[in-house]
Amino acid sequence: MIAREVEAKSVLTKSKLADYCVNPYSGCKHACLYCYVPQMPWNKNRFNRWGESVEVKVNAAEVLAHELEKAKRGTVMMSSATDAWQPLEQKYGIARKCLEALAEKDFPITVLTKSALVTRDADILNRFSEATVGLTITTEREEIAAIIEPRASPVQERFNALTKLREQGLRTYAFLGPLLPLDAKRLVNELEGIDFAFIDCLRYATPALKSLLEEKGWSECLSKKWAEEKRSELTRLLGEKGIEAKPLF
Ligand code: SF4
Repeated sequence: MIAREVEAKSVLTKSKLADYCVNPYSGCKHACLYCYVPQMPWNKNRFNRWGESVEVKVNAAEVLAHELEKAKRGTVMMSSATDAWQPLEQKYGIARKCLEALAEKDFPITVLTKSALVTRDADILNRFSEATVGLTITTEREEIAAIIEPRASPVQERFNALTKLREQGLRTYAFLGPLLPLDAKRLVNELEGIDFAFIDCLRYATPALKSLLEEKGWSECLSKKWAEEKRSELTRLLGEKGIEAKPLF
């Protein structure tokens, strides 16, 4: 894996997902096979193999602090085109420094990651008046996650991270998607106490991912009907635990 240190010109960008997003890295070592980021027009031909090279924005926190001086208050999402707590964050701590800059201004923050490393930053997240922290969970089956999301935290570590964040007083959510083959009951049983859960289907699959899912016997998640049935089951089970389900399809 190649990590290339770069100087960013801008870090706080307008977003359709929140008012702003902050991406401390370009590229993502997690290398999820369904990731749509390498297909974005601005990324085409930029990454030879997704997950094999990452640009580290070493000055991101300083640039962000400067941009926040002039920015209108709004919700900031970390992150939209990378995972801010991917393995490199352990060494560089850029997401943590960006959080510090945001906490200084107390802009509302919403976090989404597939890494248990986010628990390291619970202290800063607790300084915000409004902070919501989410972990993406696509299946409770480790053998599936290990192949489809090869370098993200194991699923049990993500469940444990949600518990730890909640115990530290943070508002937590699960992003259940893209739905991969799963046992809804077993999965929801691990989500005790979270505040809400988004549910989304697999919207994008390359021919290579489709072939892999078929070869492994996991191709049901390509079917809209299957996804709709899982959405209903998850919504019902979450409701029984008093967790609000927010389907996105
Ligand atoms: S964690 Fe997110 S950004 Fe990173 S590869 Fe997976 S889907 Fe893409």
